[in-house]
Amino acid sequence: MQHSTAPHELALSKGIWVKLICGASNEDLPSISDLCAVYAVAGVHCVDVAADMAVVNAARQGLKWAESQIGVRPWLMVSISDGKDIHFRKAAFDPQLCPEECSRPCQKICPAEAITNTGGIIADKCYGCGRCLPICPLGLIKEKENHLKIEQFAEFLVEAKPDAVEIHTAPGRSREFEASVKAIVESNIPLKRIAVSCGLEGFSINPNELAQELWKRHECLCRYQQKPIWQLDGRPMSGDIGKGTAKSSISLWKSLRAIAPPGPLQLAGGTNATTIDHIDTKIGLAGIAFGGKARTLIQPYLNEAQEQKKKLINCSDGWNKALKEAKELINPWLIEDF
Ligand code: SF4
Ligand code: SF4
Repeated sequence: MQHSTAPHELALSKGIWVKLICGASNEDLPSISDLCAVYAVAGVHCVDVAADMAVVNAARQGLKWAESQIGVRPWLMVSISDGKDIHFRKAAFDPQLCPEECSRPCQKICPAEAITNTGGIIADKCYGCGRCLPICPLGLIKEKENHLKIEQFAEFLVEAKPDAVEIHTAPGRSREFEASVKAIVESNIPLKRIAVSCGLEGFSINPNELAQELWKRHECLCRYQQKPIWQLDGRPMSGDIGKGTAKSSISLWKSLRAIAPPGPLQLAGGTNATTIDHIDTKIGLAGIAFGGKARTLIQPYLNEAQEQKKKLINCSDGWNKALKEAKELINPWLIEDF
């Protein structure tokens, strides 16, 4: 197993770790490259992307550019799942079936601007948040699973060579989790960490039972000599909805911090700029991951750049504004305990 030194490991140990989640199903390549560049320069320690070579290449492009500017590069993490998981899906509908008079509520609710004025869903832009699924009055929008199969893990990892992998798991899936870890380890790609993403939403278990599940994952990772990050997924893919979503992962952390297995505990799912206001100490907390909120903050600048047929890194005004927004979101987390 390869061990890393500062600043990434140091950030985990000091509670100042910040990760950008590009989205386990987000394949919007131009945006991913620029998002990675902006947040890398702003100071994140890791970017987490879909397990797809085109996405990995786009992310690497942004990270390489950032490294040329600031001399350091965040870890590249890829997300996989050990079973069905809402992070790994796409929405789809046939636009031919839509009545002309429909006011297109699906389009209005989509945070990724993935639904076009007259057509259907741009699959690359859809990251599976699910908000459009119940809103169609005709029930036209369906979800489709979109995840790498376990037998594809090793080949993908050999090509992608990420620094870290995240496994989305769920209660009752310890056997599937172990099979995923085994496939990852058999790829012989040295990983600095395996993040384990899990939460309570959608499951009728309590925090004690979730902790027991995490202990099983811990025991498995120890057997395969892998180091974890425990990603506490409060309210998945909701950080851009409103301030209230921030409380979910904090309450999960508070109920798990005394009973979770060893390893860094990191917030995710519903995190936004107000998350920091709900905690009075970072003791026992390794850091945070920002997903939807981080992306929607930068979206207007990405749109402007794309309208000019440029990359955001080549639009000085837009770049400076985007970087300011990114720094405002993550800077409070780069301060050691308060
Ligand atoms: S609302 Fe969410 S699930 Fe629906 S198209 Fe947009 S990103 Fe995809
Ligand atoms: S809400 Fe339904 S009917 Fe209306 S545009 Fe969207 S998918 Fe079509």
